[in-house]
Amino acid sequence: RTVDVQLGERSYPIYIGEDLLQQAGTYLDNHRISKQSPILIVTDEHVADPYFAIVEQSLTASGFTVVTAIVGAGEQSKSMSVFEEVMTKAIQGGLDRKSTVIALGGGVVGDLAGFVAGSYMRGIRFIQMPTSVLAHDSSVGGKVAINHRLAKNMIGVFHQPEFVLYDLTTLQTLPKREVYAGLAEMVKHGLIWDKEFAYWCLEHADELKSVDMTAMGYGLEKGCSIKAIVVSRDERENDLRAILNLGHTIGHAIEAVAGYGEIIHGEAISIGMVGSALIGEQLGGEPGLVDTTRHMLTALGLPTVLPQRLDVDQIMEAMMHDKKFQEGSMTFVVPKSIGVVEINHNVDYDLVRRVVEQLKEEV
Ligand code: NAD
Ligand code: ZN
Repeated sequence: RTVDVQLGERSYPIYIGEDLLQQAGTYLDNHRISKQSPILIVTDEHVADPYFAIVEQSLTASGFTVVTAIVGAGEQSKSMSVFEEVMTKAIQGGLDRKSTVIALGGGVVGDLAGFVAGSYMRGIRFIQMPTSVLAHDSSVGGKVAINHRLAKNMIGVFHQPEFVLYDLTTLQTLPKREVYAGLAEMVKHGLIWDKEFAYWCLEHADELKSVDMTAMGYGLEKGCSIKAIVVSRDERENDLRAILNLGHTIGHAIEAVAGYGEIIHGEAISIGMVGSALIGEQLGGEPGLVDTTRHMLTALGLPTVLPQRLDVDQIMEAMMHDKKFQEGSMTFVVPKSIGVVEINHNVDYDLVRRVVEQLKEEV
């Protein structure tokens, strides 16, 4: 399967299939990646074993020189200090303008390695080899960034990859909780754009959760395609691209208040998407919107209720920090029906607060 991300001269393909890492060298060859200059592979400690050796062997067999940077697993690696460590490896390894950086891992490694590629010598080539379900989202669109102590994704650039090599086989070792969290972004792509796909996710929930290769392959292909369509119509986030943030305003606030890692990103946006549906229903959306959204997310192994211990005022405060209410109202991606959303710049503060309170109610 191949998904094409159409961005004019920055267009690139996403190859999706099983056992692709073994053929990494061939894919690099086909994309005329230089053999004169070293390749830097960035990966994390969970992914390195066993996948790093597979990629390295394939590249070496094809005649590439490989330099490695293995970083700690988790969000902490999207930091200035880890960024500097990876840069040090790049310089010590002799990377030059014709070199390529490969991100082998989840969204964290993708964002970090992408930012290294985007800034090393003002930008060198970049290839993504995603190993998490969530990375189907982060591998499309070219946003790469690291975090500042004070704010997430604050330091970054747009840098599109040469291609994406999505080896589904790697998903078999991804912890279940991470699989489900990635499915939240997958069904999100259905909820914002494609009703049929949202229902397909529901009907194939068990296969997706157990990482059935056929279902997962189709789901990731569809998720990537929807994101690719949205991004190609609005590469630099003017308006349309904002719909990708469904559930993220409330979700980011939940992540921040719970403490990063306590509730992981996909879980937080799952609860956030229920919040958006509640807002949607109250603003005249299709009846049953909330129930259907909850049903889909629950089927995918995701939480839909806000834990009691999280304080509503703190969540509201975190949200204001993130987005800023202007004169008592704020911008939200609001569902009208399954598969259809609109950007509403005028959602009332009190409505949002009531919705966040409602999110604590067990159903
Ligand atoms: P992650 O990269 O931290 O991966 C989650 C965990 O799974 C990590 O512990 C990782 O080591 C482990 N892991 C990954 N693949 C594995 C495998 N195949 N087998 C075993 N373990 C594996 O997190 P993520 O959920 O993939 O991505 C989250 C990051 O993506 C966040 O930093 C977020 O900001 C970013 N993101 C970026 C964009 C974008 O457009 N650039 C979009 C969405 C998310
Ligand atoms: Zn997200």
